[in-house]
Amino acid sequence: MHNITLINGDGIGPEISDSVVKIIEKSGLEIDWDVQTAGSDVIEQEGTPLPQRVLDSIIKNKVALKAPVTTPIGKGFRSVNVQLRKALDLYANLRPCKNLPAIETRFNNVDLVVVRENTEDLYAGVEEQIDENTAHSIKIITRQASERICKFAFDYAVKNNRKEVCAVSKANIMKLSDGLFLESYRKIAQNYPQIKQREILVDNLCMQLVQDPTRFDVLVLPNLYGDIVSDLTAGLIGGLGVAQGANIGKDCAVFEPVHGSAPDIKGQNKANPTALLLSAIEMLKYINENNYAQKIENALFKTLSEGYKTADIGGTLSTTEFTDKIISNL
Ligand code: ATP
Repeated sequence: MHNITLINGDGIGPEISDSVVKIIEKSGLEIDWDVQTAGSDVIEQEGTPLPQRVLDSIIKNKVALKAPVTTPIGKGFRSVNVQLRKALDLYANLRPCKNLPAIETRFNNVDLVVVRENTEDLYAGVEEQIDENTAHSIKIITRQASERICKFAFDYAVKNNRKEVCAVSKANIMKLSDGLFLESYRKIAQNYPQIKQREILVDNLCMQLVQDPTRFDVLVLPNLYGDIVSDLTAGLIGGLGVAQGANIGKDCAVFEPVHGSAPDIKGQNKANPTALLLSAIEMLKYINENNYAQKIENALFKTLSEGYKTADIGGTLSTTEFTDKIISNL
């Protein structure tokens, strides 16, 4: 029996969480879910969208599955996602991006991994209003965080039989900050002679990704470029409904889809649970439940191959109908 924190989120969060919890339960794997609410729904009672109890639960269980949580705009709250990543030092954001069966996209053999630094860069939240007409946001890049994320990317490449780790920057313009990121990459790369090295400017990367994404393997990027590029790569495999992610630190890991809470389709039984389900499958591998991970992945792929899909990827099924099809294929 595993103890895992479940943040069921808001917007479409509860619908896709219900789907994924049900699929895992029907697979036969026993998980004791420690359900923790967060986001706009808890602010009134608890005064914050991210109460300490949520962090305590993840620290205790070490692993969490997280559905999207909305941060209210303009009410003075910092993003729940950014806060969570900082508080637990979840420094690596891992976004594998691979074609799924029967989801037609422009390219058929996309198989790349985005490794995004998760703790600094323009997300450090250091902003200053200089005068009425000028505002500054400070981009913070440190050697420690850059070396740590590059090491993570190379270790991931070794462990997952990847051939190349490509560093992405704009070091020709931001010579000091992105220059430091690149310098850190080069230093770490020396310890991995078996993995191919490559460097690319982020603008060139974007052009090449939409021309031919098969040119890339593992990408390692500072926070902001990672955010933008991983939405681009999500688009390459069928969009946000199928894009999985994980935030990994030294002590804990939080698995979550790339997409947000999709308030436009909330409560309509339309949401695609695939991105959260793929994130959960990665989570099962992380806790060494590889057989269950494989069993659930097979059921999902079989369901998609049979042509059963939700509307966002060209199908007609509701969230619950799609869930039931996956369960019948377990
Ligand atoms: P955030 O800023 O929190 O990332 P956002 O508004 O940029 O949120 P999403 O909430 O991810 O973006 O939604 C973007 C679009 O994608 C919306 O039209 C939404 O309905 C759609 N979408 C996102 N996730 C899903 C899903 N799981 N199933 C179906 N459609 C989805």
